[in-house]
Amino acid sequence: MPSKLKKPKFIFIVGGVLSGVGKGVTSASLGALFKARGLEVTALKADPYVNVDAGTMNPIEHGEVFVTDDGDETDQDMGNYERFLETDLLSDNYMTTGRVYMSVIENERSMKYKGKCVQVVPHIPLEIVRRIKNAQKKSHADVTIVEIGGSVGEYENILFLEAARMMKLEAPDSVAFVLVSYLPIPKHIGEMKTKPTQHAARQLNSAGINPDFIVARGEFELDKPRREKLAVFCGVSQDHCISAPDVDSIYEIPLKMEEQGFTNKLMKVLGIEQKRIDLSNWKKLNHAIANPKKDVRIAVVGKYFGTGDYTLSDSYISVIEAVKHAAWSLGAQPQLEWIDSEVYEKKPAKVKDLAQFDAIIVPGGFGARGIEGVIKAIKFAREHKIPYFGLCYGMQLACIEFARDILGIKAANTVEINPDTKEPIIHISPYQAKNVLQGKYGGTMRLGAFSCDLKKGSKVRKAYGKSSVSERHRHRYEFNNAYRDRLDKAGLEIVGVNPESNLVEIVELRDHPFFVGVQFHPEFKSRPMQPHPLFEAFIRAAIK
Ligand code: GLN
Repeated sequence: MPSKLKKPKFIFIVGGVLSGVGKGVTSASLGALFKARGLEVTALKADPYVNVDAGTMNPIEHGEVFVTDDGDETDQDMGNYERFLETDLLSDNYMTTGRVYMSVIENERSMKYKGKCVQVVPHIPLEIVRRIKNAQKKSHADVTIVEIGGSVGEYENILFLEAARMMKLEAPDSVAFVLVSYLPIPKHIGEMKTKPTQHAARQLNSAGINPDFIVARGEFELDKPRREKLAVFCGVSQDHCISAPDVDSIYEIPLKMEEQGFTNKLMKVLGIEQKRIDLSNWKKLNHAIANPKKDVRIAVVGKYFGTGDYTLSDSYISVIEAVKHAAWSLGAQPQLEWIDSEVYEKKPAKVKDLAQFDAIIVPGGFGARGIEGVIKAIKFAREHKIPYFGLCYGMQLACIEFARDILGIKAANTVEINPDTKEPIIHISPYQAKNVLQGKYGGTMRLGAFSCDLKKGSKVRKAYGKSSVSERHRHRYEFNNAYRDRLDKAGLEIVGVNPESNLVEIVELRDHPFFVGVQFHPEFKSRPMQPHPLFEAFIRAAIK
């Protein structure tokens, strides 16, 4: 769609005090509110890491690796943007310091700078600006939201701030800044403190930027005295301080922001004329979230979800969201329990406890740790007819379990765990084997959207309601077609195949309420208002 505004508008979202306060959801929510006004919106994430993409980062530390249709391995915030904006984003919408530097160095090597001395400033920020404008142009966006990772005051993101400052200088009435900051309430004081945010605003000032708005994140609402303080010390008018207390569901946030007229105020700053807004679908969603008729208990079984004393479910955020979307659409509230599969290795009898769950998920993963425990859980789901959904690794391991137990191929394995296995149910293509051998790990998995033809009469085809679909992938190993007929005949049917490569994409168990393994990651395409058909079918079976 062509843009509706004469000039494209840019909103930079930066963080204050600490990371993880909700810049991503703030960016996504703002985007949703502009979109609900009929404007074209896109969102970008600028990650300060030197990594070229998120694919090489540990998900336990950094969160989920979100994959785009065009096969980029990006930050989990991209998932929030896609879910809130209900749109598919591309590699153009994601950048890291590493990626920016790589472009500049490639340009230098090919004489694009025509003999000039190439400098950190201005060449790095100019490349950042180029990327932001490119993403805007490609999506014809009226409003482009750019989230700068990390928080102000870090060395790491200073060049992204410099790029933002340059864009403001170039078009002062088309660029706005939002500082999302945290206001702690120290227990021993019992009062919400603005000082850290004052410092964050100062830091931002020293980068040549004054925030137009402060989103005051905290446990509770922003009260009058604190609002006055923020206004005086941060140079932001009182009604530009937006209260953002903790909420039960992130999907409440667009409504909360709208109540405070946040977008209208932003539109005033950016010279966008006021537009009618339609939030009926957001209200409907929130009604469903607040009024579940039943609970559905789901065990997520995997190798480990912990870091120190904490469970970091962020590494599976899209799975969690996809489960929620499907459950809410069916009038249910999901209760997810994270189960460390190593427990079943140490105490095999414990696997019986899975009987108390309505359904079991095995999400994506890598490596050998806890895998035999996962296989025990899959066997239990298969034999006890508990709805099972295996995502990527969860599909591969379901095939191994079936081959071992039903086909009697005791040595069945994946070459990821045992490279010399005699029965490589899951194997590796010569092309991928070369990547591994040469240590070429970055961006070389089977990534992004591939099509999948669905078998007539299968449960998955019925769920999708069509004969061919496109889904996103991120894996290096694949199902070995030499075992295909045996599995299929014995009841683990091959019901989804990629027409170009003949790779197995979906398996489904006959005579089971729902036992499905997918080589792709359906969770990336689930939207709050449009749950993914397979998650919906899975939760429906769980409720039954
Ligand atoms: N480790 C498996 C592979 O690389 C599965 C990957 C995943 O679950 N995303 O093929």
